[in-house]
Amino acid sequence: MNSSDKKRVKLHDRTFEVMIPGSEIDKAISAVAERINRDYRDQETPLFLGVLNGSFMFMSELMKKIDFNCELSFVKLASYSGTNSTGEVQELIGLKNNIEGRNVIIVEDIVDTGESIEHLIRSLVGHRPKSIEVVTLFFKPGSYSKEFPIKYSAMSIGNEFIVGFGLDYDQLGRNLKDIYVVVDD
Ligand code: 5GP
Ligand code: MG
Repeated sequence: MNSSDKKRVKLHDRTFEVMIPGSEIDKAISAVAERINRDYRDQETPLFLGVLNGSFMFMSELMKKIDFNCELSFVKLASYSGTNSTGEVQELIGLKNNIEGRNVIIVEDIVDTGESIEHLIRSLVGHRPKSIEVVTLFFKPGSYSKEFPIKYSAMSIGNEFIVGFGLDYDQLGRNLKDIYVVVDD
């Protein structure tokens, strides 16, 4: 298939074309779910903690493939311009569960530099969970610069900007069932 045959969508001012079809994403989610099933089957009821908005679709697909009893909840990282030198501060909102002594699995749409996941982990550690791991649909190993190991990653990609399957371009594209990449033309 030459690139001009690929399905395209227009979001705001940019054109995107299919990079990863939904069927491949589904297979990758099955594989990562299988690993989690193996690792957590005999653990105390884990809590899957999705990070809104991007993780909603991944969470839903992942949950259908998890075969042990578990709980799920969502949190949000609210960004605002802080007064400190780094500029942006991210505050964790919406954590209603008592996670003390619990096995927590953070569910992310994408881990890029690792800035957001590091903030989130730091806030969660303060609530004294028994364990924290991360499962992400997409991981950009070429961009990740943090120490915390991303144990469960469904798919690794390069540094391209993608949309679809929960991921947005200025709030559009979250509903797309395939992954799209921007077309530079
Ligand atoms: P971080 O650099 O902190 O790991 O990534 C933070 C956030 O940047 C992600 O949660 C996501 O919202 C956004 N992001 C990073 N890479 C991409 C991408 O390729 N596409 C989209 N839509 N968002 C991205
Ligand atoms: Mg995210």
